[in-house]
Amino acid sequence: AVEVHGAVKSFGAHTVLDGIDLTVAAGKVTVIIGPSGSGKSTLLRAINHLEKLDQGYVSVNGEPIGVRRLGDRFKELPERAILAQRRHIGFVFQNFNLFPHLTAVQNVAEAPVTTGAATRSEALEQARALLAGVGLADKEDAYPRQLSGGQQQRVAIARAIAQRPGVILFDEPTSALDPELVGEVLSAIKDLASTGTTLIIVTHEIAFAREVADEVVFLDGGRIVEQGPPSQVLDQPRHARTREFLSKVL
Ligand code: ATP
Ligand code: MG
Repeated sequence: AVEVHGAVKSFGAHTVLDGIDLTVAAGKVTVIIGPSGSGKSTLLRAINHLEKLDQGYVSVNGEPIGVRRLGDRFKELPERAILAQRRHIGFVFQNFNLFPHLTAVQNVAEAPVTTGAATRSEALEQARALLAGVGLADKEDAYPRQLSGGQQQRVAIARAIAQRPGVILFDEPTSALDPELVGEVLSAIKDLASTGTTLIIVTHEIAFAREVADEVVFLDGGRIVEQGPPSQVLDQPRHARTREFLSKVL
C-alpha cells in the first residue's frame, strides 16, 4: 500500500498540502481530482520524494520514502538510497519526458539496463514486448520527435512499466495531448490497471475516472474534501465544493 501520513507542505506563506492522510491499497487505482493549484502535483511529487514534506511522511509497503525514522523524527536518506527507492515508483509526466536522443525501444530499455536489472539484450526484448503492448510495435526505432504526442506518452508508459515498479504515478498524462489522441493513452493506462499495479492518477478526465478508479479523491486547498468510490464522489458528491468543481469540469 501507499500511505501518506499527515503530509504538510508550504511554499513560503502558502500552505499547499494542509494535512493529507491517504491510503492507497496495493493493486488499486486511485484518481485524484481537484482545481488548479489545489496541490495535486505537489502530492504526487511528495510520494516519490521529489518534493520534501515539512511534516508527515509517505510510506510504500511500510517503508518510509526518502527518510529514515529516528525515534519520533525523520532524517533525510542519502541521494543514492532515494534513487533506489524511486525505481520502485514509476512516474509518468504531463510532458512525456522521453530522452530525445534515444529511440522508443532505447527509452524503454534504458532504466533496466542502467540499474542492472536486466542485460542489454533482455531489456531490449522486454522493451519491444512492452511497446507492442501499448500498440507501438511498428515504432520501436523512431525517435521521440518522430512520434505524435499520444505515441510519445505511450512510450513513456511502457518505460515506466519496464522498471516493474509496484506503483506508478501519473500527473495529468493526457492534458498536453490533442483531444483525438487522449483515448489511446487512456486505454493504455486502463490495460495497466487490470494488471494489479498500484496506480495513482491525477486527471481531469472524469469519464475515465469513473471507469477506471477504485477510489476518487477530491482535493481542494491542500486538503482532501471527499474520498470514495466513483459512484459516490462523482455521481453523488456529499460536499457542495465537490459538486461545484464537477459542474465545471463535466
Ligand atoms: P494544476 O491542476 O494547475 O496542475 P495542482 O493541483 O497540480 O494544479 P500544484 O502544482 O501542486 O497544483 O501547486 C499547488 C500550489 O503550490 C500552487 O499555488 C503553486 O503555485 C504552488 N507551488 C507549487 N510548486 C511550487 C514551488 N516550487 N514554489 C512555489 N510555489 C509552488
Ligand atoms: Mg498539477
